[in-house]
This record gives sequence, C-alpha cells and structure tokens, in this order.
Amino acid sequence: MQIHKNYSLKNLTTFQVEAFADQYIRFDRMDEIFGYLSDRPLENHRHLILGGGSNLLFVENFEGIILHPLLKGIEVIKERADHALVKAMAGENWDDLVEFTVARGYGGIENLSLIPGSVGASAMQNIGAYGVEVKSAIDSIEAISSSEQKKVTFDPNNCGFDYRFSHFKGDWKGQFIITAVVFKLLRKPDYVTHYSGVQETVDKIGPLNLENLRKAIIKIRQSKLPDPAEIGNAGSFFKNPVVSDTVLNDLLKSHPDMPSYLQGDNQFKLAAGWMIEKCGWKGKTIGRAAVHDKQALVLVNPGSATGREIFELSEQIKNSVIETFGIELKREVLVVQ
Ligand SMILES: Cc1cc2nc3c(=O)[nH]c(=O)nc-3n(C[C@H](O)[C@H](O)[C@H](O)COP(=O)(O)OP(=O)(O)OC[C@H]3O[C@@H](n4cnc5c(N)ncnc54)[C@H](O)[C@@H]3O)c2cc1C
Repeated sequence: MQIHKNYSLKNLTTFQVEAFADQYIRFDRMDEIFGYLSDRPLENHRHLILGGGSNLLFVENFEGIILHPLLKGIEVIKERADHALVKAMAGENWDDLVEFTVARGYGGIENLSLIPGSVGASAMQNIGAYGVEVKSAIDSIEAISSSEQKKVTFDPNNCGFDYRFSHFKGDWKGQFIITAVVFKLLRKPDYVTHYSGVQETVDKIGPLNLENLRKAIIKIRQSKLPDPAEIGNAGSFFKNPVVSDTVLNDLLKSHPDMPSYLQGDNQFKLAAGWMIEKCGWKGKTIGRAAVHDKQALVLVNPGSATGREIFELSEQIKNSVIETFGIELKREVLVVQ
C-alpha cells in the first residue's frame, strides 16, 4: 500500500488536467484494503475510487481521499461445453481482458475491444459499444462494503444495469469497492455485427471469427476516436438522449434529417454528437479546451486546458443544444468538483 499527500492526479486521468488530491492511496492487495478500512471507516471521509481515470473530469483539487485499487489477475475458473467463467480483478486493464478472452475463443465482450479503463469500472459503468453492453456477459461482481468491511457478491440481475448506469453509480454510490468481476462467456459465440460498418470491416479482414471481429472493432475505433495517449479526452462526454415517439415526431418536423434508433417501448435514442455538430461545435476551440474535429461528442484537452475550462465548454454545448433542440444532454463523464 502506498499513501501520498497532496498528490497530483494529472497522469492518472485520460483528460490529463492538473488536480491535486488531499490523499492518494494505492492498494495492490485485498488485505491492504481491509487493513486500511478497519483503521479508518470511509463514511466520515469524502472519497473517490479511481480506476483508469478514463471517465473522470476533475474541475478542481479533490479535498478528500482517492482510493486506487490496482488488484491484478485474470483466470479461467470454469470451462464447460458451452461456456466459460473468467474472473478478472478490478485493476486489470479492460482491453487486456478482452484480448485474453478472444485468444481463448470465448465470446461475449469482443465488441467492447479497446475501451479504455479498468475491469472494476466496466461493471460500474455498464460499458457498451457496437451493439453490446457488458451487463450481458457478467456472471457476478465481487466487492468490499466500505461500511461493513466485508466481502459482498452481487448477482448482475440486482445491480440495476441500464444505459451507462448501475446502482453502483446511483443509490449505492461510494458504498462498494469493486474488487473483481466474473464473466460468463460463450464457447460458441453469438457474433453481433449489425452495427453500422462492423460487418463490412470484418469482410475486408477475413472470415467472421472472434479475432477478426476484435480487429474490425479496433480498426473502426482507431479511425473515429482520439487516442488519449495523444490528446487528452474521456471518450463521449455526453450520453445519447432517449426520448418518446411523441418528442421524436415533434423534433422531426423541424429537423427532418435527425437520426434516431428504436430502443423498444416507443423509445428512441438520439445521436448527441449529431446535435452538437448541428449546433456548430465540431472542431471548435474555446480558450484551451476543444471539441474534437472528427467526433463532436468528444471534448479534448489539446495541451494545457484546465478541468474548469473543459467543464465550461460542456456547459456552453449543453445550452446551445437546449436552445436548438429543446433537449437537455446529460454528461456521461463524471465531473468531480
Ligand atoms: C477514447 C475513449 C473512448 C471510450 N469509449 C467508450 C465506449 O465505447 N463505451 C463506454 O462505455 N465507455 C467508453 N469510454 C469511457 C470509459 O472508458 C469507461 O467509462 C470506463 O469503464 C472507465 O473506466 P476507468 O477504469 O477509467 O474508470 P474511472 O474513470 O477511473 O472511474 C469511472 C467511475 O467508476 C468508479 N470506479 C472505478 N473503479 C472502481 C472500482 N474498482 N469500484 C467501484 N467504483 C469504481 C469511479 O469512482 C468513477 O465513478 C471511453 C473513454 C475514452 C477515453
């Protein structure tokens, strides 16, 4: 365990903005977490659990404790004729896990290739891409209750999974440190290729199999999304809004070319990036913060932007989308202030 005071978080988040935490604590083993919590229950202290920092924006210094569980390990715990159970510790890099499962022929998370961040956060966020959400591959989630200092195992059916959401982000916020996730993966994969451009890209690579689907997803992502190693960003800054058919029909009267995707139950997902682009934000720079020039849903830190500048830019974007479309965008990135 390492404990640091007044610690810079700049290199621990993909936005790469400067912010200092009163205390930063890095855990490499489970017993370190239990030892720490037994001496210092967290309820009375402002705290935040950090993964890969790829969905966080620190707007100011963090007056509290940053807990960074870097627990490592991936193992196949069961292999049956039709499925395999793979347990990954929370501090594993998400894409390393995808690579591990694809190499063994286990299907279920290949469409989530190259999403930055940790295994622990993947479950908390219910990450999703190219027609797949991680909830459909989760068998159980292991965590430590910070108040009771004991291990808890969650059935995914009780975790309130929704679009980029789970109870861990809602009612249970701050109560559990996720330590591991067990995935149930298929030995005869169900390939998901309906999403725009996926099948065509696979076809150019070779026959449809897990390896080629993963390669195709990586290729598409690299052509569309900025690499945080090259320019600070946290992926999609806003969620795609979901509206009723009545709201959609009203919008189509004034914006007939507006894209929408049926979600079931007369609910439609709108493309936040399209709306932001229509408002003229794509590629715009305000001060030291900017909107990416290829994908308007992504805000970037080209060099020395502050968290406050990126946040202010997001506020301006929200306001212009409300003015133009009457839709309030919700942030996907967790803003910490
Ligand atoms: C270029 C780029 C592309 C992206 N593309 C996608 C995409 O296609 N789909 C998608 O869904 N997301 C995407 N994201 C967002 C991001 O990768 C995911 O949200 C990811 O799951 C965040 O993981 P992290 O470990 O970095 O979490 P962090 O940013 O460190 O934390 C995110 C949240 O999880 C909590 N948390 C982290 N670890 C734990 C833990 N062990 N226990 C409890 N809580 C924890 C934190 O407190 C925080 O609330 C993208 C980001 C980038 C930069």
